[in-house]
Amino acid sequence: MDQTQTTSYPYRIKNSKPWQSKEYPKEMDKKQQLNQLKKQIQTCQRCRLADTRSHALPGEGNPNARLFLIAQAPGEVEDEKGTMFLGPSGKVLDNLLTIADVSRDQIYMTNLIKCHLPKNRKPKAEEIETCRHYLDREIDIIKPALLIPMGHYATRYLLQKYNQKIPSKHEFYKLYGTLLYIKKQKIYPVQHPAAILHDESLQPILEQNYQKLSVFSHPCKWALVCPMKYYYEQGLLDKKWRELYCYGDWETCIRYQKEEKNEYHEDWMLPDGSLDQQLKNK
Ligand code: SF4
Repeated sequence: MDQTQTTSYPYRIKNSKPWQSKEYPKEMDKKQQLNQLKKQIQTCQRCRLADTRSHALPGEGNPNARLFLIAQAPGEVEDEKGTMFLGPSGKVLDNLLTIADVSRDQIYMTNLIKCHLPKNRKPKAEEIETCRHYLDREIDIIKPALLIPMGHYATRYLLQKYNQKIPSKHEFYKLYGTLLYIKKQKIYPVQHPAAILHDESLQPILEQNYQKLSVFSHPCKWALVCPMKYYYEQGLLDKKWRELYCYGDWETCIRYQKEEKNEYHEDWMLPDGSLDQQLKNK
């Protein structure tokens, strides 16, 4: 279901694509590339949101982060101060990160739309189309292990970016808290922290979903010696198993759980607990 508004929208600069131009010679390191991009975002006049914003907000955080969080757009406080996640939803996010034992220094955070949306209204399709290139560029520079879209619009944008079908509203909610592996990219959609401000009953599920960030922060302790590594290197195993479990949600791997309890398990048991007869015969 398309929830994006499609009101017509005047563009300032047609056919201008600063992110595709000379400004990014290959030899620039990540920080230099991000600094260049930051300047372009802060001075961007490509759409009408430039008239009402106080600050256009580039992403912030660790250029070498494994975890790359994507929110919808800056809130009022963030727009006024020029920094991400300072307002009420920032407090909720900090609380969720503390529960996950993940610091802001470890992650990179950015927005789908870089300017505040007046009265916190929903983004229009044209605004997403005009601004999305900055996000794409940030992803290209950082090359994170995991993209973590927070909320509907960021999640929806990533599904479109990777040519996935947009699920129905009912199915869409099931994406939250599910680790996906799409076109060699891991994506972990979660609810936006502000959801708790509107509905306190969502606190436990958000805590549960954000807690996984501590698992994703490092690989499984068995990743270098597990038979799955051997099978993968022999070309016998789809990479998705390594990405979704060994370098993803290793806590849910049945092999990992059995290792922890010192329980016997066959070498050809897959991370989901199923037995692969083809591997058995190799
Ligand atoms: S298969 Fe399971 S136990 Fe083995 S490295 Fe991967 S997550 Fe760890």
